[in-house]
This record gives sequence, C-alpha cells and structure tokens, in this order.
Amino acid sequence: MAQAFFGGVHPHDMKAATNEKAIEQLPAPAEVVIPMSMHFGAPCTPLVKAGDLVRVGQKIGEFRGLGAPIHASVSGKVKAVEPRPYSMGGNMMSVIIENDMHNTLSEEVKAPANPDALTVDEMVEIVKEAGIVGMGGATFPTHVKISGGIGKVDTVIINGAECEPYITGDHRTMLERPEEIIGGATYLAKMFGVDKVVIGVEDNKQNGIDAMNRVIAEKHAPVVVESLHCRYPQGGEKQLCQAITGKQVPPGGLPSNIGCAVFNINTTCAIFRAIVQGMPVVNKVVTVSGSGIVEPKNIECPIGTPVSLLLDACGGVKDGTYKLIAGGPMMGMAQYTADIPVAKGTGAILAFCEKEEQTVADPQCIRCGKCVSVCPMHLEPLFLYQYASKGMVDELNEAHIMDCMECGACAYTCPARMHLTHMFKTGKQLVKDKAAADKAAAEAKKAAQERKEA
Ligand code: SF4
Ligand code: SF4
Repeated sequence: MAQAFFGGVHPHDMKAATNEKAIEQLPAPAEVVIPMSMHFGAPCTPLVKAGDLVRVGQKIGEFRGLGAPIHASVSGKVKAVEPRPYSMGGNMMSVIIENDMHNTLSEEVKAPANPDALTVDEMVEIVKEAGIVGMGGATFPTHVKISGGIGKVDTVIINGAECEPYITGDHRTMLERPEEIIGGATYLAKMFGVDKVVIGVEDNKQNGIDAMNRVIAEKHAPVVVESLHCRYPQGGEKQLCQAITGKQVPPGGLPSNIGCAVFNINTTCAIFRAIVQGMPVVNKVVTVSGSGIVEPKNIECPIGTPVSLLLDACGGVKDGTYKLIAGGPMMGMAQYTADIPVAKGTGAILAFCEKEEQTVADPQCIRCGKCVSVCPMHLEPLFLYQYASKGMVDELNEAHIMDCMECGACAYTCPARMHLTHMFKTGKQLVKDKAAADKAAAEAKKAAQERKEA
C-alpha cells in the first residue's frame, strides 16, 4: 500500500507529447564524443589514443576508486582524445570516435553460457565491468550500490515513478521492454537474496503497470508493482522509499540506512542486458520534448551522440526557443550549446520557447512560507537562500543544506520567483569548499607540527 511522503508539488505532467510515441532508433551518427566522466566519482582514464581502431562494447575508459568503466558505443577510428563540452558544464576529457558504420561488436562482449547459474559475486562483477550507473541521472556506480547493500538491504525498489514533467523514456520502456525490466529485477532479487522486488510506478502510467504485471504473471517473477499517486518528487530515492515502505531515511542518511536499495528502470534493463547478453552500457533512451521542439520524440541513440543530432531528428527547434535543458524541467541543467553529447545519465533534452519564461528581475521574498510547506526534506528554503546569498557557511551547515536534493519544488511553488535551487547549488559548493579548506589547513598544521618535533 502506497504511503505518503512529506511536501511535494503537483506540476502538470506535460507527458502527452511523447507518452504514446514508441522509442525510435536514431540513424547512426558519423561521430560520437564519449566523455570520461559519466558517473559519480573521479573521471576515467582513457585507454585509447588517436588512430586506434575500436569496436562496439570495447572498454575505452578505466576507473579508479569510485566509478565505472566506459565503453565504445560505435565501431571505428579514434579521431582524438581531448577535452570537449559536456552537460555538467565546462569541458571534460573525451574520446572522439569516427563511426565506420559497420557496428562491429568487440570480442570483449561475451554472453555468459548460463546466466541463471552465475554466483552473486559473478553477477556483481558483470555489472561492474558493464559500466552500469544510476541511469535516472544520479549516475552512482551500480556495482557499488549492490555490493555495499548485500546483507544490509531487505527491500529492493525499482524506481518507475518518472515524476518529472515531460520525461517518458521509462514509461515507454515499461511498455516496449517489460521483459528486460522484470528480468533485471529478478537478478537483483538474487543478488540481494530477497523474496521480492517492488517496482514503484506513478498511476499516470497504468498501461506500463499492466504490461509489467503481464510479464510477472507469465514468468512467476519475484516482483510486484506498486501504483503510486502522482506527486513530485516521488522519484527521489528517499521519497520513493517512504512511499513504498513508510520509513523515512534519516537526515544525512542513505536508503541503505533503512534497509532499502533503489534502482532506476533503465538501470534495471542494463543489468539484464549485461548478465544475459554480456552487453555494457552503450545506448541511452532520451526524451526530446518541450514547447521549442518541432516534433517531440523518445529516441534511443549511442552514448556520445551529439544532442544537436537528436534535435535534428525531431525536426529542429522552433523560432523563439530560448532555453535548452539536459534533464527534466525541475532538476535539469540549462545548456549554452547543443554541442554536447548524450551521456549515461541523460534522460531528456528539453527546449522551451520565450513565451513561457516567467522571471522577475529582482525577486524579493514575501515570507509566505510556501517553500517550507513543499520541501520534501523538511528544510526551510527561505532561510537557506538568505544564508547562501550572504556566504554564511556555518548557518548553511546548521540548516542542513547538504540534505537539499535540488528537486526544485520550492522554486516551482515560490510566488516571488526566487532563484532558490540555483542559490542552493551555490550554497552547497560553499560548504564543500569550506570543508576542503579546513581539511587542508588541518593537514598543513599537522605536517608543520611533525616537522617541528622531528
Ligand atoms: S515561497 Fe518564495 S516568497 Fe514564499 S517564503 Fe519561500 S522564498 Fe519567500
Ligand atoms: S530544492 Fe532543496 S530546499 Fe527546495 S524543496 Fe527541494 S530539497 Fe527542499
């Protein structure tokens, strides 16, 4: 039975533009630009150089510490290894591959002889080598989430909420690839040693729920689908855990603190493809929508495909389009160029026309308290804004700014159009910078002390 979570808002879901459109395959791009950072953690080290020949699924980037490897998404010749713009802002070291259009599979891609006979350790290793990360946008390495949760997690949840307006890639995947979702969920049940996996889906996707229930019944899979009332940000890990289990993740904590692990729908499909076909993450389903798009679509394309090609495939952008966003309208990042590649965490590309812009030149808080009433993390956004804008780092820490999930619910509801979420990103960076400076100062003091004593 679905439970409530605190706060949240009800934006118009705007999904009608694409929710009945099947996923289209993009014609093969002539060139892909694969950034070496598409995961939470340090960027990968490139394993190839200009002039090398690569094949689909070949590992071209290796991680150290927290991360996931990166693979070639097309076959062809490495044209360059150099910094290029990417969706997180600035430039990132990238491997640029000229597509030979042969789509030749690497010999590194090997399907296990009997996937159902694999041990848990073998499955986790496959997930790691396949470069799977949270494909809903969080991009946390999936193998780390699984190995860290085994023995501690008793509730495995698949996140099918897809609560951000416009985005319909997960919904279409439920309709078109339910076997992959249920198969991936079944392998997750095996890895965690749980009797059942719960898929949480908002009730504006009833046909997706029906499609998955049909497969669960046919395969007698250890999976149940839970229908949830629509409310943003239900797809936040902590909110989904509370909606499914009724338990709250403690401040500063993770879902594993209450025995939960949450995986995105497309992540679950990637787990299935890796374990059954040996296929690493090389493709992504992206919703291209918004009032600035001539013909909105759901498109599957190789990782590294330039966003400009996706826009072309949708008839281009309309006159008056003023904003391009990678991600949803609530949590996505505005882009200054379409010359960025699709990455593992890219779920949507949205373009908007000028007439929708609702900004205020010099917004002033009127202390209405609406932002407090909708914050799902029980924060007080109006005070966070004041502290961040004045650089008050200690106060930001005491007000738990690091618990802010940047969901944008407060900014959405604010009648004064305050730039709340943007300011919280700045505030969180201030806190991180201060923590790093304090650590460096403490280390320098310790080293000086040691020299003195030597
Ligand atoms: S919703 Fe906006 S105007 Fe109202 S208290 Fe919060 S920041 Fe101020
Ligand atoms: S952006 Fe942060 S402060 Fe605003 S509602 Fe979301 S969690 Fe709360």
